[in-house]
Amino acid sequence: MSFGNLNIIDPLCRALAKEGYTAPTPIQTLAIPHLLNGKDLMGIAQTGTGKTAAFVLPILQKISEQHRPSPPGVPRALIIAPTRELAAQIDQSFATYGQFMRFRHTVVFGGVRQGPQVKMLSQGVDVLVATPGRLLDLMNQGYIMLRGVEFFVLDEIDRMLDMGFIKDMKRIVSALPPKHQSLFFSATMSRETGEFAEKLLTDPVRIEVTPQASTLECIKQSVFFVDQNNKFPLLQRLIVDEDMERVLIFSRTKHRADKIAEALNKSRINADAIHGNKSQNQRTKAMHDFKSGRLRVLVATDIAARGIDVDEISHVINFDLPNEPESYIHRIGRTGRAGADGKAYSFCAADERNILRSIERLIRTKVAVMEHQYHSETAKMAVGAAAESANSYRGRATARGSRQESAHKSAPRKPYPVRRR
Ligand code: AMP
Repeated sequence: MSFGNLNIIDPLCRALAKEGYTAPTPIQTLAIPHLLNGKDLMGIAQTGTGKTAAFVLPILQKISEQHRPSPPGVPRALIIAPTRELAAQIDQSFATYGQFMRFRHTVVFGGVRQGPQVKMLSQGVDVLVATPGRLLDLMNQGYIMLRGVEFFVLDEIDRMLDMGFIKDMKRIVSALPPKHQSLFFSATMSRETGEFAEKLLTDPVRIEVTPQASTLECIKQSVFFVDQNNKFPLLQRLIVDEDMERVLIFSRTKHRADKIAEALNKSRINADAIHGNKSQNQRTKAMHDFKSGRLRVLVATDIAARGIDVDEISHVINFDLPNEPESYIHRIGRTGRAGADGKAYSFCAADERNILRSIERLIRTKVAVMEHQYHSETAKMAVGAAAESANSYRGRATARGSRQESAHKSAPRKPYPVRRR
């Protein structure tokens, strides 16, 4: 199968060839013909499956088939993403795949001045990528009108629902013209996601893909049983001993992410943290430094890490296991990209033991247990309830008012409920 077989037009094929993409991924093969035919789509796919190109390519193709300049503030394609990083990355994908086409695109998100965004909009854009809050803001001020939207994409719906964007999404949807093509994507399909999609899609094609087996197969997954207060010494040891090159670390809270980055810098390991409390400029700089190799380590919370698309991440380290087993797959999918080998290390303390069990059930594999000097038998044998000193590190973080970043922040951590699938 080639992109030519999917009837992708020459300017797009040239851009794909330039990027080194020789064949479409499964979601691209399955989705593109339907999308070119004008069908609505519900795609269950995670980052790493090539889902962005699966909607960017047909949208660009359809825009170029009927090219006409878009009036100021009236886009033809609207793509909504939950985070600034993801929105920026989608906008970048339009630039990359559309590099041999004539069209205008821009991205709007909060946390930065609106002036430059308003200026771009006033010149007329065909494709607008946006986070929900800033989009509504600019709509309320009259800078964006949705009456011309022909293609409407909601990316990572599950995450948007998690982040409490339901009202915003409904408001956006109510401003769309009656006739448009809707493309919805979600990493997981919950009852809430299903109900939301059901109401808004017309006779949609449903496509579900798991991350390419090869992606997960390329990742060597290991777990380190360790008490909370030994997690940092273990981390430091591993980074140095294994001479890790480009490491993405996940922490449970923003405060913890800062602490880890700070402590690594003190140990002369170049690190920075990205999370929702950082300004857009700080986040952009950290991402840029990480991509360029100036930073060896980037510490992130789940939400901030959504949309991080950096190839050649040698190691993903779960300093804390995620509350949601599905997030584990998202996280580790950041390494082992483009056929490269990757390593995913998870630190599991006693109070995270049940989360590990849920993850293993989800991925239908036992994660290999690593032997190391900080091994905690208590953590290994725990059944998920709080155990001895396991909370010391977290205790400190909580005392300073740190909270989890996701909408699950109020969820009880222990015992961890096993989700039936
Ligand atoms: P996504 O799932 O959209 O986040 O894409 C994951 C990664 O796969 C990105 O780095 C894309 O640039 C890359 N990608 C998308 N389509 C292809 C393809 N057909 N062949 C190889 N890589 C691709």
